[in-house]
Amino acid sequence: MLVFILNAGSSSLKYQLMNPVIKKVFASGICERIGIDGVLSHEFGDKKLKVDANLPTHKEAIELVLRTLTVGEGKVIDSIDNIQAIGHRVAHGGESFKSSALVTDKVIKEIEELIPLAPLHNPANVLGMKICQELMPKTPNVAVFDTVFHQTMPDYAYMYALPYDQYEKYQIRKYGFHGTSHYYVSNEARGMLDKKRNTRIVVCHLGNGSSVTAVLNGKSIDTSMGLTPVQGLMMGTRSGDVGAGAIQYMMKQENLTIDEISELMNKKSGILGISGKTSDLREVLDGMQEGDDRCRLAVDMVAYNIKKYVGSYVAALDGIDALCFTGGIGENSALIREIVCTGLDGMGLVLDPIKNNRKRNDSRDIATNSSSARIFVIPTNEEYVIANDTYEVVTKS
Ligand code: ADP
Repeated sequence: MLVFILNAGSSSLKYQLMNPVIKKVFASGICERIGIDGVLSHEFGDKKLKVDANLPTHKEAIELVLRTLTVGEGKVIDSIDNIQAIGHRVAHGGESFKSSALVTDKVIKEIEELIPLAPLHNPANVLGMKICQELMPKTPNVAVFDTVFHQTMPDYAYMYALPYDQYEKYQIRKYGFHGTSHYYVSNEARGMLDKKRNTRIVVCHLGNGSSVTAVLNGKSIDTSMGLTPVQGLMMGTRSGDVGAGAIQYMMKQENLTIDEISELMNKKSGILGISGKTSDLREVLDGMQEGDDRCRLAVDMVAYNIKKYVGSYVAALDGIDALCFTGGIGENSALIREIVCTGLDGMGLVLDPIKNNRKRNDSRDIATNSSSARIFVIPTNEEYVIANDTYEVVTKS
C-alpha cells in the first residue's frame, strides 16, 4: 500500500510517500513560500533536489509535488495511479472526531465547521483534501487529526473552570495537539517496558511547538496544550501558560486588538520573547555558553516548565513507569533532559549521565539500571502514524 501523506500549512506543504506496511519511505519534502514565490525541497533515497517554482496557490504546489514524484530527476513512481491512498494531517478535530476518518463531503463540512477553533490550519487542511480529490478523483483521502488521541481525557481534565455555557455554546475546553506523536511515542514506550498492564507514561514532545501528555494504559488522560496550541509549555515563539490577568493588562496598556495579542503570544513570545534573539534552542544554548544572561534565562525557563508538568502528570497518573523525550529538543538536547530529570529520584526517575550524553539516533533507555522507572529517548514518527491510520481506514472501509 503506497500512501501519500500531506501536511498542508498556510504557506507551506509537507509531504511523504510511504508504504506503512513495511514502514518504508520512498520520498519526502516540503513546498515553502506558497503564495509568495515558491520553492520545493525534495528528498528521495539519499538524494536531494531543490526546485524554484512559481506557486501562487496550494494547487500548483501539489501539482508540482506529484510531477516531481512521477517524472524527471526526483521520480520514484511511474504514475500517480500508483498512490493507493492519501493521508491528511488535520490540526483540529474538535469533539466531532474520535478517530481518523475517510474524507467525504460530510467530513469536509465538519472540519470546516471547526475552522473557528483552528483558523490558520483547518482551512489549509481542507484545501489540501479538495485539491487531491480534484487531481486524483479515484484515490481515497483520510483525515488524521492532531486532537484525536486526547479525546480520551476525562471531563475534569479537559474542562476549563469557566461558566458552563461557554462550553455548551462554543465547545471551549482543552483539546490538546501533537496527538500522532504522543500516540506513537507512548506506544513504542509500552513495547519497551517490561510490564504490559497499568502502564503510566509521560511523553515530552519538545520541538518548535512543545507539549507534555500523561498516558495511562495507552490512553491520554491529560495534556499541556489547550483549546489552541498556545497553552502549556514555553515554546519557540509561543508563551505557554500566562495568567489571564497579565493578558488583560497588556491589552489595556498597549491598546491591543485580539489579533495583536494573539500575534504577541503565538509569534513573539517563548524562547524568542525571552532571549530577544531567536526561537531556536540550539542558538540560545550557544548564547548561554557565550555568557548571554537572557539566553540563560530562556533555557532555565524551558527546562523548569517541562519539569513542573512532568511532576504534575506523575501525580495525575499515581506514579510513573516511563518518562519519554521526543522532538528536535527532546531527542537531541542532553542538557535539557538532564535539567528536567535532576532531583526526580524521589519519583523513581534516575538519569544515567553517560547514557544521556551518548549521541545516538535510535530509541534508547537513558535511566540507570537501578532506576525504578525508565527514561526513554524515542524519535517520533508522526508520518508513520498518519500513513498507518490511512491504510487501516481505507482497508476497513
Ligand atoms: P518542529 O516542532 O518544527 O517539528 P523540531 O522537532 O525539529 O521542530 O525541533 C526544533 C527545535 O529542536 C529547535 O529549537 C532546535 O534548536 C532544537 N534542536 C535540534 N537539534 C538540537 C540539538 N542538538 N540541541 C538542542 N536543540 C536542538
